[in-house]
Amino acid sequence: MKLDANIPSGPLAQKWEKHKFDLKLVNPANKRKFKVIVVGSGLAGSSAAATLAELGYNVKCFCYQDSPRRAHSIAAQGGINAAKNYQNDGDSVHRLFYDTIKGGDFRAREANVHRLAEVSGSIIDQCVAQGVPFAREYGGLLDNRSFGGAQVSRTFYARGQTGQQLLLGAYSALSRQIGLGKVEMYPRTEMLDVVMVKGHAKGIITRNMQTGKIERHAGDAVIMATGGYGNVFYLSTNAVGCNVTATFRAHKRGAAFANPCYTQIHPTCIPVSGDHQSKLTLMSESLRNDGRVWVPKNKADCGKAAHQISESDRDYYLERKYPSFGNLAPRDIASRAAKEVCDEGRGVGPGGLGVYLDFADAIQRLGEDMIRERYGNLFDMYERITGESAYKQPMRIFPAVHYTMGGLWVDYNLMSSMPGLFVLGEANFSDHGANRLGASALMQGLADGYFVIPYTIAHYFASEEKNCPSTDHPAFDEAEANVRGIVETLLKANGKRTVRSFHREVGKLVWENCGMARSKKSLSEALKRIPELRAEFWENVNVPGSGDDMNQALEYAGRVADYMEFAELLCTDALKREESCGGHFRVEHQFTDKDPEVKNGYTNEGEAKRNDDKFAYVAAWEYTGPNKKWKLHKEPLKYEEVKMSTRSYK
Ligand SMILES: Cc1cc2nc3c(=O)[nH]c(=O)nc-3n(C[C@H](O)[C@H](O)[C@H](O)COP(=O)(O)OP(=O)(O)OC[C@H]3O[C@@H](n4cnc5c(N)ncnc54)[C@H](O)[C@@H]3O)c2cc1C
Repeated sequence: MKLDANIPSGPLAQKWEKHKFDLKLVNPANKRKFKVIVVGSGLAGSSAAATLAELGYNVKCFCYQDSPRRAHSIAAQGGINAAKNYQNDGDSVHRLFYDTIKGGDFRAREANVHRLAEVSGSIIDQCVAQGVPFAREYGGLLDNRSFGGAQVSRTFYARGQTGQQLLLGAYSALSRQIGLGKVEMYPRTEMLDVVMVKGHAKGIITRNMQTGKIERHAGDAVIMATGGYGNVFYLSTNAVGCNVTATFRAHKRGAAFANPCYTQIHPTCIPVSGDHQSKLTLMSESLRNDGRVWVPKNKADCGKAAHQISESDRDYYLERKYPSFGNLAPRDIASRAAKEVCDEGRGVGPGGLGVYLDFADAIQRLGEDMIRERYGNLFDMYERITGESAYKQPMRIFPAVHYTMGGLWVDYNLMSSMPGLFVLGEANFSDHGANRLGASALMQGLADGYFVIPYTIAHYFASEEKNCPSTDHPAFDEAEANVRGIVETLLKANGKRTVRSFHREVGKLVWENCGMARSKKSLSEALKRIPELRAEFWENVNVPGSGDDMNQALEYAGRVADYMEFAELLCTDALKREESCGGHFRVEHQFTDKDPEVKNGYTNEGEAKRNDDKFAYVAAWEYTGPNKKWKLHKEPLKYEEVKMSTRSYK
């Protein structure tokens, strides 16, 4: 496998403009001769499908929900970043670019991130034109709020329902094209394999989730926008249906998987309440604009109600440790700080696994009505789940798995290492390095779909011999046989354990050994146990029913089968990366009081310590076969404009 990031030459700020000119075009009359398969209809997939159809391509779009409107993107709460500088507070394309690179702990690809910042403003214009009801100020201009890792207000929002409103915008664009016959929409359809013809991705195999029918679809290119893999941890803030199947099966066909160990643990989630739970609930980062995070200074106070703890006995630890960014420290930093105080025995709530997010000051300053206007739906959600009103007492929050920065490796054109397979949105690895800043995922998904892929896919079409194969091609026979083989093996296992019990066990294993903290010891233990559990899964899983109709246990079993393999790749990557960076915290690699950066007050003891000499690379893993070790390829990260430095938010 040879990886070429295809980063254009020239000054950073001019690369994308130059590249757009250098890319080949497909003339309008020829576009209708090409068929594009888009797997996924979240923000990345629906924006891509709608835009490509608008340009004239013929699109088939697939999702496993009953409507594109139900993609996980709909859950996004807090907002979307853009360098518009409406607040006149010092923002710029360069600052958004720099914040994103620094937020990602200098492990993202510089050129991609700059492009993201450049197109961010157009996303807002596009969405406003579609009618997305972003919050407005009294004078009618679009409002902004702040998110972690930035000292400017650049986040556009629609109350706590930004993802929903953006998705409705993209969905209306998609619906227009469905109505015009340019997009054929396949809901309740799961992609289970990619078809490779002469080394190019030219089709997919799907299963109709209502009838069980296995079908073949051919195209001139395949776009995957299938979201993240956070549910490998079992409990996460992701929708229960989110999974790794599409990307992992593409990986098994030859697409490199990049940085799988980079997972984001979000600091403000409702704490786990018991074994019965199958998912966790996020309380948006936007709440940290007005909420103050604290725990008692003394362990002895942890059992008391919040109002019984006096102001002088409270430790506002984020404000204390990171005075410049305070409660808006980036997620990886805020999550670890919460873990640290809970490890010290100063956590609150059941099991001591919680910290307070307190709105008392903000309510006093702004009034309850203003807080309700800003975050009302989040407060309601919190009350419905916990039975507590955050207007009257502080929220209790704790970190939880939220987002995956790793994903299929892509070049600057968003093409994977398999020619003809493009990967967009959370499913690719490209823009967030080792930690994503809040409100940047929606920005990236829409940048990829509305503004990048329309250019880069045309170049692919114009550069290759046109070849959309027939679905009778032997490559389709082989891929379909593979899918049927997996379905039959799962149904035949006839074992004693439920799919869920395996998912819960593998998830717990990954969370405990490769979660907020990882070590050589914990990772080695996980890597020993995962293959044993996988072997047991195939022997002892129980999948009732048949493959010929709707069978949710079968769908779930296929996804858990992929987690069983993927978990091993995730831990392999984490073991190899002998440094701490962003969301990847190796306990062996942290700053101590002996380091000059701590002595001179630049950073704190216990912060993540990178090793740029050895690990300033993207780890792109090649699949080499069942139960074989993965092969590592390294894409060196070269920074032309930014100087790698120790991250400090003090
Ligand atoms: C609770 C929550 C709140 C968030 N809030 C914010 C926020 O405020 N701001 C922000 O920037 N980010 C936020 N994020 C992150 C952001 O929502 C996601 O990263 C983003 O929406 C992902 O979009 P996507 O299009 O890449 O994938 P998704 O929206 O997950 O869409 C994936 C699509 O792929 C389809 N699919 C997957 N597998 C298959 C398959 N095998 N076959 C067929 N179809 C398949 C699905 O049906 C779906 O249509 C939040 C995340 C969570 C969990």
